[in-house]
Amino acid sequence: MTNLIDSFDRQIDYMRISVTDRCDLRCIYCAASSFQNQSHENTLRYEEIARVVEAAATLGVTKIRLTGGEPLARLHLDRLVAMLVSIPGIEEISMTTNGTLLTKYAAELKAAGLKRVNISLDSLKPDKFAYITGSDKLNEVLHSIDVANDIGLVPVKINTVILKGINDDEITDFARKTITDCWNVRFIEHMPFAGAKKQDNDLVSSQEIMDIISKKYGELQPHHSHIGNGPAKYFKLPGANGTVGFIGAVTECFCSECNRFRLTSDGKLRPCLLDDDEVDIREAVRRGASIEELAKIIQSAASVKRAQHSLDSGSKPSVRSMRQIGG
Ligand code: SAM
Repeated sequence: MTNLIDSFDRQIDYMRISVTDRCDLRCIYCAASSFQNQSHENTLRYEEIARVVEAAATLGVTKIRLTGGEPLARLHLDRLVAMLVSIPGIEEISMTTNGTLLTKYAAELKAAGLKRVNISLDSLKPDKFAYITGSDKLNEVLHSIDVANDIGLVPVKINTVILKGINDDEITDFARKTITDCWNVRFIEHMPFAGAKKQDNDLVSSQEIMDIISKKYGELQPHHSHIGNGPAKYFKLPGANGTVGFIGAVTECFCSECNRFRLTSDGKLRPCLLDDDEVDIREAVRRGASIEELAKIIQSAASVKRAQHSLDSGSKPSVRSMRQIGG
């Protein structure tokens, strides 16, 4: 098997797939309220996604994450999971979800072969949750965390984006959940994306969050034995069984360790979340290209992957929202 190595000698073994750009939430920092969903015709069918994954697997891609949009907004996602699990070389399928529909589908997803879930949650307060997401489904999300743990979609990780002046008063509440409820909470720095209502000046850095937590709970102890494919740094609070993680997407450049690329819901390979370079693969899939040809297209996408994103030079991705790219 050939490995997928980019021009900067990084081995790419992890693919994140936006299965749909549709979502039942309208998070203020993710997509504008004027966001137009793409047509069903433009969205990759499950068989088409599986074909791309089959080609990627021949290049050493072993880990897949289903995301979106909201992946559970797409019907019969367990069917896609089962298709991907059966592809030789694919070792792990995980999912990032907002949790509103997870209780309903968790058992069938687990049975199909889904390993674990990340659940996004930015507020523990009903009114704040409603303000951020445009929805009153906080209880559904909280319940889904328990269900995911009970069913064994573990370790469940909670993804939290902190926005200055909006939910930064809840940092220690989330941290406390690692003690009281064994949660694994990961604070993700807010990245500016064109088109979202909230963009600039909202950043609360990982360092600021760490300082706020350690001031209240004492020094954070580095924690190393955690399953993960990414750049999060994990810690434990004194007396906690859960972990607190930090993804400094803006203030800490971890591009040199990047092992991933993305497949957008309309069939573009996107080598970097924060860079607008994309390579179309849908056309080739739809005209029945061979696995070898699809693998070559994937290799060509890896070859345009840049050394690092350019957020710190002030530029930001301009064309797509997170929902299409797959956060
Ligand atoms: N709907 C699913 C969910 O909510 O988890 C999956 C898609 S969502 C785009 C994936 C993750 O991206 C979520 O954890 C969300 O908080 C995060 N996200 C979206 N926009 C972001 C931004 N501008 N900066 C940082 N994280 C963002």
